[in-house]
Amino acid sequence: MWQIDKTFDFCYSHRVYVQKLNTDLCSVGDTSCACRHIHGHQGKVQVFLEGDHLDDRSMVLDFKETGFIKDFINNYLDHKFIIDRNDPMFEYLVTDLFKKTTGLSCLNTLPVTIAERCIGQTIHLDHVPPGSPEYEILEGYFIVDFVPTSENLSKWLHTIAQHRLKEFNIKVQRVEFWETPKSRSSYIG
Ligand code: ZN
Repeated sequence: MWQIDKTFDFCYSHRVYVQKLNTDLCSVGDTSCACRHIHGHQGKVQVFLEGDHLDDRSMVLDFKETGFIKDFINNYLDHKFIIDRNDPMFEYLVTDLFKKTTGLSCLNTLPVTIAERCIGQTIHLDHVPPGSPEYEILEGYFIVDFVPTSENLSKWLHTIAQHRLKEFNIKVQRVEFWETPKSRSSYIG
């Protein structure tokens, strides 16, 4: 068994609107639910790949062939506000601004799919004036269908990577998602 891993760095923001603390477990004086605020992180994703045998290049996978993960992160997550479409503030932060700016009656989005399954959405900006403050706000959103905790994000990225690597018989053993240098979630497939 061989294992390789590759690390990707990116910046993102999110809001964990479900945060509710058991204050008995918290440090005294550190009991605010600040993760409910819109806030940002210098994130790091570490993807671990496993293979029972090496290919004819004596590799599990060429590290360069993890570039599809890098592209996905750069295209959809880097410097984006990852927002759950079920967030109670979604209408206020996203839908209302889009309708007011475009005059359209409903939010127009572009689905991001793998295997015909929608894994996220960006906003269709054709009717938004380029260079306007609204354009800059709306192009910064990436819409998902789950609360963007590091736990959910690690599982979600595992699904995306595993789907792409399945045909090469490479197992994504786990994805580690570092929200801060001291706080990490792992999803083990
Ligand atoms: Zn956070």
